[in-house]
Amino acid sequence: MKVTDNLAAINEQIHEACHHAHRDPKEIKIVAVTKYVSIERAKEAIDAGITHLGENREEGLSAKWEVLGDKPKWHFIGTLQSRKVKNIIDKVDFIHSLDRVSLAAEIDKRAKRKIKCLVQVKTSEEESKHGLVPNEVLSFIQQLGDYSNIEVVGLMTMAPFTQDEKLLRHCFRTLKELQQEIQNQKLEYAPCHELSMGMSNDFTIAIEEGATMIRIGTALVGE
Ligand SMILES: *Cc1c(COP(=O)(O)O)cnc(C)c1O
Repeated sequence: MKVTDNLAAINEQIHEACHHAHRDPKEIKIVAVTKYVSIERAKEAIDAGITHLGENREEGLSAKWEVLGDKPKWHFIGTLQSRKVKNIIDKVDFIHSLDRVSLAAEIDKRAKRKIKCLVQVKTSEEESKHGLVPNEVLSFIQQLGDYSNIEVVGLMTMAPFTQDEKLLRHCFRTLKELQQEIQNQKLEYAPCHELSMGMSNDFTIAIEEGATMIRIGTALVGE
C-alpha cells in the first residue's frame, strides 16, 4: 500500500473520531513510526506530507537522520539508555520516554537547547510496559525543575495490545487525569499540553480520550 493511501484512510478516521469527541482535527499530530521500515519508505511518508517521524532505537534514528536530516521533526519513542543520549540529543525534537531522574540529568547535561520531553507512564498492569506508575508521576515531575534544558511538554503511554475497548479507555483516561493534575501545579517548565497516546490499533479511541500525538507505524508505513 502507498503511504498516501494509508494516510488518507487514517486522516478520515481522525476526522471521524474528532467529530465524535467535538475536537478539532488540527489538534492531532501524526508521528509516523518508521522503526520497521526502510529509509526509502520513511522518505515516502515525508513526500506524502508527514512532518513528524518516530524511532525507538538510537541506531535506527541515527541511520535515518543521516539521510533525511532535519526535514522532519524527530521523536525518540523507545526506552533510552543514558549512555546513548549523547548520540541522539542534537537530532531529536521530542523524547517520549523520560522515566527517571538520572536520564533527565543526562539529557540536561548533553543538550545545547531545551528538549521537549514527555514523561512515560505505565497505565496498565502489563509486565512488559515501561514507565512510571501513575502515582509516581507528579513527584517525579516536581524533581525536574532544576534541569533548565528539559521542558515537560506532555505525557506518553502505551496501552496494552488488546481489542478490549474498556481497558484501552481506562488507560487513556488515566493519562488525561494525570495531565490535569500536573497542569494544576502551573509549573513553568512543565506545561504538559501534549498527550502522546494511540497506535495503529487504538488511535481513534485515544483521540476520543484526548490524544494530541498519535504514534502510527503499521497502519501508515507498514511493518
Ligand atoms: C512501534 C511503536 C509504535 C507504533 O506501533 P504500531 O502498532 O505499528 O502503530 C508506537 N509507539 C511506540 C512506543 C512503539 O514502539
